[in-house]
Amino acid sequence: MHAMLPDRPDLHVVIAAPRGFCAGVDRAIKIVELAIERYGPPVYVRHEIVHNKFVVDRLRSMGAVFVEELDQVPDGVPVIFSAHGVPKSVPAEAQDRGLDYLDATCPLVSKVHRQAQRLIEAGRHIVFVGHAGHPEVIGTFGQVPPGSMTLVETVEDVANLTLDDPENLAFLTQTTLSVDDTAAVLAALQQRFPAIRAPLSEDICYATSNRQAAVKAIAARCERMLVIGAPNSSNSLRLVEVAEREGVPAALIQRAADIEWEWLGEPSALGLTAGASAPEVLVQEVLDALGTRFTLRVEEAEHVPEGLTFKLPRELVA
Ligand code: SF4
Repeated sequence: MHAMLPDRPDLHVVIAAPRGFCAGVDRAIKIVELAIERYGPPVYVRHEIVHNKFVVDRLRSMGAVFVEELDQVPDGVPVIFSAHGVPKSVPAEAQDRGLDYLDATCPLVSKVHRQAQRLIEAGRHIVFVGHAGHPEVIGTFGQVPPGSMTLVETVEDVANLTLDDPENLAFLTQTTLSVDDTAAVLAALQQRFPAIRAPLSEDICYATSNRQAAVKAIAARCERMLVIGAPNSSNSLRLVEVAEREGVPAALIQRAADIEWEWLGEPSALGLTAGASAPEVLVQEVLDALGTRFTLRVEEAEHVPEGLTFKLPRELVA
């Protein structure tokens, strides 16, 4: 005779789409995997290749060694720069030391680097919208001479700006910002400095804006939202904010073990998404954990596939 299982409450899980890995993260991880294959372990990586512990631990188990600075890399071993980009001084130092290096900077971050350099060459001062201390911001500031770029984070920062030549400005932004917050900061900038030059195309990347739009698209049907991502992942944190602004209490979790069941309660519909550096296997892990407590009905939101990939460095595919 089977023991009677207690009834599990029904739960409709609406999975946002697109979610999870973007083309830049996918490329960066492949670069580490291929470098380990080509050069053999250990391969050093400056900074977490992407902001996800699961990804980093997996690559570490394959032979990657993660360090914060180049002086932690011994001579004679290859080193990879993370997807977030690095200041110009980092490849220069690697070259001086004769290190073999591979640059896993996302091509969409490199595009912002090139724009920054061109604007400085054209004599403009840049106002950069981003989060202080984020590695992408440090990398972008490191493309231009000190003092030629000013960071703003909020509308209030714009109000407090004092700049020498307000007629000769341009702005750029970090790739992983909140679309809505950034629109407000840019509106404030353009109002204060009508002559400020905008980038030719949006700097917030396709993956960031698509994932935020995907959360908005399902929010009205959800009573709670789980966002899989790391606490230092800018685009994941923005997904939590987007859900909460839509009126849906949201929690950032790294893995299924982080779900706070008391907070979750017994909603009839739960939204689920993952930041651009979170692998799909963790979405499945969360569904499995939910399935131990609820009778699930899982629905994936309709979406247009992104279908974007970036080329790998020639030396790894030749
Ligand atoms: Fe590139 Fe955007 Fe992905 Fe960052 S989030 S790695 S900028 S595609």
